[in-house]
Amino acid sequence: ILIHFYSVKQKANKENKIRKKQLTSILDKLFQTTNITDENGVFMKVLEVNNICKSFGELKAVNDVSFSIEEGHVFGLLGPNGAGKTTTIRMVMNIIIPDSGKIAVMGEDDARKINNMIGYLPEERGIYRKMKLGEVLHFLGELKSMSRSSAEKEMNYWLDRLGLMEWKKKKIEELSKGMQQKLQFIATILHKPKLLILDEPFLGLDPLNATMIKEIIMEQKKAGTTIIFSTHQMESAEKLCDEIMLINKGKSILSGNIHQLKDGFGKRNIHLKYDGADDFLDNNAMILKYDNFGNYVEVQLKE
Ligand code: ATP
Repeated sequence: ILIHFYSVKQKANKENKIRKKQLTSILDKLFQTTNITDENGVFMKVLEVNNICKSFGELKAVNDVSFSIEEGHVFGLLGPNGAGKTTTIRMVMNIIIPDSGKIAVMGEDDARKINNMIGYLPEERGIYRKMKLGEVLHFLGELKSMSRSSAEKEMNYWLDRLGLMEWKKKKIEELSKGMQQKLQFIATILHKPKLLILDEPFLGLDPLNATMIKEIIMEQKKAGTTIIFSTHQMESAEKLCDEIMLINKGKSILSGNIHQLKDGFGKRNIHLKYDGADDFLDNNAMILKYDNFGNYVEVQLKE
């Protein structure tokens, strides 16, 4: 379709300018909505992870994990501390090499080859403590091939939006942890990446700032960006994600479309807080099984 429109556009160049304008706008729209395809024209997943494993000594930190993400989707990697989320993300970024399994990021086996198209927020946040905010953002923008003027324009927008403008000429070490977190988030999205990889993006943020980051993630999604983020806060996932994967002790426990998962599992799984005796749990005709944590219980109801 694109080639057809191109040839028509070339003709239209000669014929009249109005038609050229209309066709240019159609072409722009087509480009915006066209998925990435391989050489056979088959739609490619932006990220494909197949059966990856990683051990540290005896510990299987990631054990046979697979998932994929479609263009423009938000994917949540959920799990408690030590589940293997960061190790998985580091393998996606090719910082850690998997013991086995395969990863393809936009069709590439090494994410670093397409560094400019990726925005990566690592779990460890400390960056260039002695440098000033503006300098750091210019430096990081340059690493992503941004011109000085476009880095300046983008950073001013984001510093203003995230309430950091007055800190632009201050050194990083003068910022609070939450502010540093926001700065690192700006550094991640400054160059308008097509794929955002965010390791615990809400960690250390107060509720107001966490909400702001969630809003920005949703805006990025609307603009067509593909996003993967890790979190141990399950409640963050529902509103943001198209798909999730729940991992624990390195293994994938549950994965898929968030709404389908909720329909399948949500109706029969409930959390209850209670005071006093817990004898209502035993010999209850409605309960299939439960995990009792004292004054809080997770219950699976019978079908
Ligand atoms: P958290 O939410 O606490 O960051 P996580 O889900 O990101 O947890 P990982 O950081 O991937 O978990 O860690 C998974 C397991 O692998 C943990 O038991 C951790 O101690 C171990 N681990 C991670 N990196 C290393 C390493 N470089 N050397 C040895 N063990 C490691």
